[in-house]
Amino acid sequence: MQNSDLPTDKNQTNATAGGEKKPWTKPTITVLRSGLLNKFGKSRQAAWIDNIDDVPIDDLLNQYGSPLFVVSEKKLRRNAQRIKRAFTGRYPNVVFGWSYKTNYLGAVCNVLHQEGALAEVVSEFEYEKARALGVPGHCIIFNGPYKKRGILETAIEEGAHIQIDHLDELYELEKIATEKQKKVPVAIRLNFDTGYTEPWSRFGFNVESGQAMDAAWRITSSQYLDLVGLHSHIGTFITEPKAYSIQVRTMCGFMSEVEKRTGCTIDYLDIGGGFASLNSLQGIYLPPEQIVPSIEQYAEAICEVVLECTHEREARGHKRPTLILETGRAMVDDTEVLVTTAVANKRLPDGKRAVIVDAGVNLLFTAFWYNHNVTPTRPLPGKPEETVIYGPLCMNIDVMRYSIMLPPLNVGDHLVFGPVGAYNHTQWLQFIEYRPNVVMIHEDKSLSVIRTAENLDVVTAQEKIPEHLQQPYLHGVPADIIGTK
Ligand SMILES: *Cc1c(COP(=O)(O)O)cnc(C)c1O
Repeated sequence: MQNSDLPTDKNQTNATAGGEKKPWTKPTITVLRSGLLNKFGKSRQAAWIDNIDDVPIDDLLNQYGSPLFVVSEKKLRRNAQRIKRAFTGRYPNVVFGWSYKTNYLGAVCNVLHQEGALAEVVSEFEYEKARALGVPGHCIIFNGPYKKRGILETAIEEGAHIQIDHLDELYELEKIATEKQKKVPVAIRLNFDTGYTEPWSRFGFNVESGQAMDAAWRITSSQYLDLVGLHSHIGTFITEPKAYSIQVRTMCGFMSEVEKRTGCTIDYLDIGGGFASLNSLQGIYLPPEQIVPSIEQYAEAICEVVLECTHEREARGHKRPTLILETGRAMVDDTEVLVTTAVANKRLPDGKRAVIVDAGVNLLFTAFWYNHNVTPTRPLPGKPEETVIYGPLCMNIDVMRYSIMLPPLNVGDHLVFGPVGAYNHTQWLQFIEYRPNVVMIHEDKSLSVIRTAENLDVVTAQEKIPEHLQQPYLHGVPADIIGTK
């Protein structure tokens, strides 16, 4: 990544040598806020970048068009290795599950599988996607509040790790296991108050009310079910490591209790995901570098408590439980950017500057809650001014950034949005535009398209037009009925 300072007022383009009169420019008053560089100092973000992993952005655009998603395989592997190191250095027995719903592009999943992650899936589609990628059933963790009977049967047959969300699912599983005369190891999802996070009480069984213990009793008294694991996922973008300390303490407390009362043995504690990524949530004014803990801080908060709470249990001859993590956004968010092109400049009635770019919230769903970094691909001369960035959709809510300090752009200039690796490829919409190419830069700087740009055939592939609706006009193309001539 290349940094450069934007020019200061002294060398702006409209300052001319030889004392000539400067051309008049509209005076502007701008509130100073974090964002791009202003004349009072440098902010956290690079002023411009012209390459990604040493591949020139212009080359990428020439080859694959704009807008363009670009994934760094190097960054992805590095993140996976760093997260793994942070935990395995602090606890002996750690397993990672890749949260498919965060980004289920096949190439991304397989990089993470190659780095040792299991697949963490939450639906029939995600289960089938993992299997199609070559992930065997016993390497799949199956979560989610609605697992259809058919896929549950498959998951049982294939030895996936099923984490039960509610009683009806428990009964269904028991029924299937009984029919198959097969002992099925299961886990239950727990919810509880950590004091730091909004309790996500709609998922799993509540601990405080006794519901979770009832479910555990039910499972352990069943002839065909075995309670082997406990799961909880306390939220997302959690910036307080202490929330995880409390989570793990609660889960360990429940584990001791359930083992004592029912005689089962818990093999694993799955603490879900939720670590924050280096992205800026809207409404939070401190930069992410100041509020997002490092992965090592999360690991310390978690492993310290698991070690402490399982120490006595180990002394009684139990193996330490496997610690499972389902890290989503913190794994992939900063491994991908979206490169866009400015297609128009506008001045709004209130005087605010607006830029329209060729990618909107249809591609960047996370623009609804993040203020992404927006970085030009060349040093932009001129004075930064408060700017709103719109996407190309014919829809009022298509705003990529409500307010950002940007120097004037030319039509054709590029803006790089990042981090965009989490939740965009799974939540993007096909709305009035084709979705563009996604390319991956490999560690040797070679490139692959990992999802090809859509075209009319792709978008209409599932449509069927009934026989009597095959023709738009029944009696030949009508004459021009709008024109006056
Ligand atoms: C979404 C999800 C994750 C990943 O969450 P992040 O906040 O992206 O880390 C992990 N586990 C479960 C069960 C989830 O639903």
